[in-house]
Amino acid sequence: MGAALVAVPGVARATGGLKIGGPVKEPVVRILLASGDNIPAAQQLDAWYFSWIGRTYRGAFALVSLSGNKQGLIDFVPLDSYLYGVVSAEVSPAWPSEAQKAQAILARTYVTTKLRPDKPYDVVATDSDQRYGGIQSESVEGRAAVDATAGRLVIYAKAPAQVAYSSCCGGRTADPAEVWRSSIPYLRSFADPYCAGTPEYRWDERVSYDAVRHSLDLPRAGSLRAVELRHLGPSGRPKELAFTGSAATVEVETSAFRAAAGLKVVRSTFLRGVTPAGDDLIVAGNGRGHGVGMCQWGARAMAAGGASAADIIAFYFPRTAIV
Ligand SMILES: [Zn+2]
Repeated sequence: MGAALVAVPGVARATGGLKIGGPVKEPVVRILLASGDNIPAAQQLDAWYFSWIGRTYRGAFALVSLSGNKQGLIDFVPLDSYLYGVVSAEVSPAWPSEAQKAQAILARTYVTTKLRPDKPYDVVATDSDQRYGGIQSESVEGRAAVDATAGRLVIYAKAPAQVAYSSCCGGRTADPAEVWRSSIPYLRSFADPYCAGTPEYRWDERVSYDAVRHSLDLPRAGSLRAVELRHLGPSGRPKELAFTGSAATVEVETSAFRAAAGLKVVRSTFLRGVTPAGDDLIVAGNGRGHGVGMCQWGARAMAAGGASAADIIAFYFPRTAIV
């Protein structure tokens, strides 16, 4: 872990004064907020906060050079202060507190495995790592979940585990090999009874075939007749879709189809069927997100039923421990 000495603000006292604690030993997370060649300017407000495009962030910022002649805007922030900006960006502060604590432990474990001092930053502020929205995405409940779980990590074989989570698994979690082509012993596909009936559990969407077919090399299939789900993985997620037309059958990776149709429309690769309907495709699917690891809606249901954060993590990450 890239532990560094940083000063962190203590709790404001009734006198109104800010007690400056530290230096304390806490890793600093470097979050890439934006990259490009024309990043809007950020402004340091005081020793602890800066503002950028109308939002306030904890920590200090710097512009760094990235590959491809690009610049990156980096937020340097102590690890648990980073988690304050993650937990309520990932799950609602209205959710049961044990689900928020499970999210806090996973978010801490995740970022601990991503600290990489040899690179210009550790994580990005989006779903590609973890959503992070600065002060505006914090909540009293989310900060309480971070504080209540301070220092706690998911451990496998004496090291922080590789953890993952997504919005809703659709009733069966995905094996990482289905998503990232790597296998992790404590992350296998298994049935999740807890997210049944939650908002993203089952969905149907109409997608314009014309809008996706050119980017997916489908015109050579000819006039479309049928779409078949192929190469189902351990969880039942199809690796490929076979588009059969008047001229040929063309196989497309389900993830490429999802990207072409829009990640918010085709919300997962856990498809039940794709059916041609006039100029459109009717896409039926389960869940939202990649489906590996903790199912956030399932965790919410477990916590509502009385499960603790430790119970939730033990269910979604069997053979791990919380230390
Ligand atoms: Zn689930």
